[in-house]
Amino acid sequence: MQEIFRYIDNHEERYLRELKDFIQFPSVSKHSQRKKATLECAQWLVSHFREMGLDSQLIETSGHPIVRAERKGKSSRRLIIYGHYDVQPEEPLDLWETPPFEATLKEGFIHARGATDDKGQLFCHIKGVESLLKTEGELPCDVLFLIEGEEECGGSGLKDYIRKEKDNLKGEALVISDGNMYGDSTPALCYGLRGIISMELIIKGPRTDLHSGSFGGNVPNPAMVLAKILAQCVDDNGKVLIPGYYDKVKPTAPWELENFRKLAFDETAFIQQTGIKAPHGEEGFSSLERVWNRPTFEINGIYGGYAGEGGKTIIPSYAGAKITLRLVPDQDAQEICLALEGFIKSLIPDYVTYELKRPSGSNPVYIDVHHPALQAGKTALREGFGEEPVYIREGGSIPVVKVIWEELQLPIILMGLGTDRDGAHAPNEKFSLSNFMNGIKASASLLKQFK
Ligand SMILES: [Zn+2]
Repeated sequence: MQEIFRYIDNHEERYLRELKDFIQFPSVSKHSQRKKATLECAQWLVSHFREMGLDSQLIETSGHPIVRAERKGKSSRRLIIYGHYDVQPEEPLDLWETPPFEATLKEGFIHARGATDDKGQLFCHIKGVESLLKTEGELPCDVLFLIEGEEECGGSGLKDYIRKEKDNLKGEALVISDGNMYGDSTPALCYGLRGIISMELIIKGPRTDLHSGSFGGNVPNPAMVLAKILAQCVDDNGKVLIPGYYDKVKPTAPWELENFRKLAFDETAFIQQTGIKAPHGEEGFSSLERVWNRPTFEINGIYGGYAGEGGKTIIPSYAGAKITLRLVPDQDAQEICLALEGFIKSLIPDYVTYELKRPSGSNPVYIDVHHPALQAGKTALREGFGEEPVYIREGGSIPVVKVIWEELQLPIILMGLGTDRDGAHAPNEKFSLSNFMNGIKASASLLKQFK
């Protein structure tokens, strides 16, 4: 890899300048007034890939187009690389210290919207491919980029495309760099994601809000009924009380427990970051285990009645809550949806009516770390960053990963190149220049593993 790494180091300035060009498009997929800029960003990528010597095209979807780019390599093994060219809105503007769509290099970081999520991380793979092409004249394996423009707006273009084209999307593995390393600088390979179920429950009482003096004591109060139902769903430590909820939860393997211990979760930093008094959750589980391999029940929001300035003596007509559950292997989202619906219904008293927006969701993802593709990812990170990577899991869910996992049945190499201090989705988003350079090296090294 020496010669390739030297090439990468020698071209830092140009790679950075090109990333700047990529970042300058305000490709905010959520905002209709940015539709043109989003399209221009996709077109820029297509021509950039063509200049690099890849076949590239735009693929129309019901929303923003997909950029597809590919090139045959020495071996017929194919690596698919996922990324997204759309970004979150830049607001609030007044909190930015540099112009959001002008990549600014400051104290070793590239500052801009999309710097880490996901233009910077994606660009590592684009330049990894280019560095190999420039130094060796050809790629070690077939490469296919699938880059969507709807990650931040929840569009279904890429998911529909994958379902439709799944027979033509065969490969050895799929790579995603759209996440974080462990802590500030430890390269990490993520092998597990939690699943998710969403649900909304509305309890209905009187036809309209009522005077709490004239009617109180003789009519049901939907807010109180709702609170009581929700309180019966979890115990004080967050243990979920839905019958059968834990039946299929696979206990954390001994090697993982040992790994979690070695990762040395920083409780003080966690308290500082979150502003809570202390980590709180199920007894007998470490913080990392709670977030990575324990399922949850969370109320995301409660509404109903009066919550404005001053008081208002009413009995609300209705009250509702939005709820999400995070699932872990081997819980089955469909089974849990049924169990959840049945349990909630059993808690609703017969003196109110209700509306239940049916629960729906997706399964957790768990990839065997011994899979050769993950081992290749590990080698690539070690070579690119010059440091031994760690194995991590992630408490969140990435919808596209679930579709790839289920439709393409490909092992997924999740190598996040950002850090959780990068401020993805926030003002002053940034990406470390050294992670950018090491990420390019890791990507080039990864391709080499599939020769
Ligand atoms: Zn992203």
